[in-house]
Amino acid sequence: MNRLYKTLIYNKQVSLTVAETTGLVQHARDIHNLNPAAAKTLGELLTCGVYMAGCLKSEKCAISITVKGAEGSGSVSVSGDIALHMRGYIDSLSDGKLAGGFMTVIKDDGFFRPFTGACELVSDDVSENMEHYFDLSEQIPTKVRVEAEFDGTQCLAAGGVVMQLLPGHSREAFDFVCEKAAEMADIAEDIRKLGADGVMNKYFSNEVSLAHVYITQPEYRCNCSRAKIASILLTMGRGELESIIEEQGEVSVHCHYCNTDYKFNRDDIQKLFENKIQ
Ligand SMILES: [Zn+2]
Repeated sequence: MNRLYKTLIYNKQVSLTVAETTGLVQHARDIHNLNPAAAKTLGELLTCGVYMAGCLKSEKCAISITVKGAEGSGSVSVSGDIALHMRGYIDSLSDGKLAGGFMTVIKDDGFFRPFTGACELVSDDVSENMEHYFDLSEQIPTKVRVEAEFDGTQCLAAGGVVMQLLPGHSREAFDFVCEKAAEMADIAEDIRKLGADGVMNKYFSNEVSLAHVYITQPEYRCNCSRAKIASILLTMGRGELESIIEEQGEVSVHCHYCNTDYKFNRDDIQKLFENKIQ
């Protein structure tokens, strides 16, 4: 089940998002065949990515979050678009050592005016790092409770809650958000037992009018294609590609996000340059 609920609460002073991403995170684990620790880190970052993608305003927009772990321990990258098509990959980082690393967020508005924010990672916990990012880089007080829980290869639950204070919020609204976040001791358990609907009910039944909840369905979907890879190959020039064919017999391009190999043989490359993309 994948769901994203968005609404305004506390007299429209707080933007509330509840995400259930269990299916999406399971898909990511299976594509990359990850161990539970790596799947947890990637799954939690994908869930944060779903939240950010849900905040995008126009069709061409996209977001990406890249985390480089401490002392070259590895990296993880997720990206998504306004349709909540998410993808990501993790390169080692299976020990979950994030503290001391670095996070970069790019919000592309589709018109070559990307917003880039960055911060140092303050903890090994994805939620704490996201809070720190919003506080430092976007100056938006935010409470993040996201979690992905695994039993071996099985994602038991993934998702969480993000509460963001809107400009002009009162002190009471700030306290309300802090209190709610403190109540969420085990958000993965809540998601597993109650789902996104149940989490809404459990914590926000007095605040939420379901008539004003915006619901979307995120999914894990890579946007790569043979045609896109072919257009990138064209920029390398015919000489370069032919020398790869000489040496390796084919040109092979791997998409890290969906683990797909695109292979181009001598004929394919020839046709490529005759504008017959295969
Ligand atoms: Zn792909």
